[in-house]
Amino acid sequence: MPSETQFDLIFEAIIFAARKHQGQVRKDQRASPYITHPIAVAKVIIEIGRVSDILTLTAAILHDTLEDTDTSEEEIKEVFGEEILEIVLEVTDDKTLEKMERKRRQVAHAADLSQAAKLIKLGDKLINCQDILQSPPENWTLERRRNYIQWAADVVSEIRGTNAALEAAFDQMLHEAENKLDFSIKPFRTVNQRPWAPHPNNHQE
Ligand code: ZN
Repeated sequence: MPSETQFDLIFEAIIFAARKHQGQVRKDQRASPYITHPIAVAKVIIEIGRVSDILTLTAAILHDTLEDTDTSEEEIKEVFGEEILEIVLEVTDDKTLEKMERKRRQVAHAADLSQAAKLIKLGDKLINCQDILQSPPENWTLERRRNYIQWAADVVSEIRGTNAALEAAFDQMLHEAENKLDFSIKPFRTVNQRPWAPHPNNHQE
């Protein structure tokens, strides 16, 4: 059970992220307020992953603030401290890069993440894929939905061994996706045939 000050930190993060994401909506058909997403990610980490580490949960709430809002690194550091900032930075894409390069990097770097960042990755991919199955963005073709789920499966392949319960929930989602979207998830060993191939021969990174 988290202590009172630990709850304080989490609620502080919820209020901070809610303000930062104010006006933003998810891509689902109901256009849900964006803040429902980081809250859902933290919720699966707690409820399915049984993780109660306060730094991980606070960073989960904040995980999209650097990437998708005007939040600065200094602001997060000032309010939540260096450790939480480091975790959020680990799960923040470089938005100056084009979309496919960002996807490629997520696959290429997933294995190097800290345990906290891996848990957030797992929760984030689980929630995003569930959203795509339950309430896909209206303009997403079947192919685009399949591609997203295949990419998420490739990222998660690189962080297996992080949390058995979250990985089992992810596998359950993959199974549902295969039925619902009528396709087969390709094994990770064929990742180099995909547009987000991580180029394993390049040891520069
Ligand atoms: Zn997210």
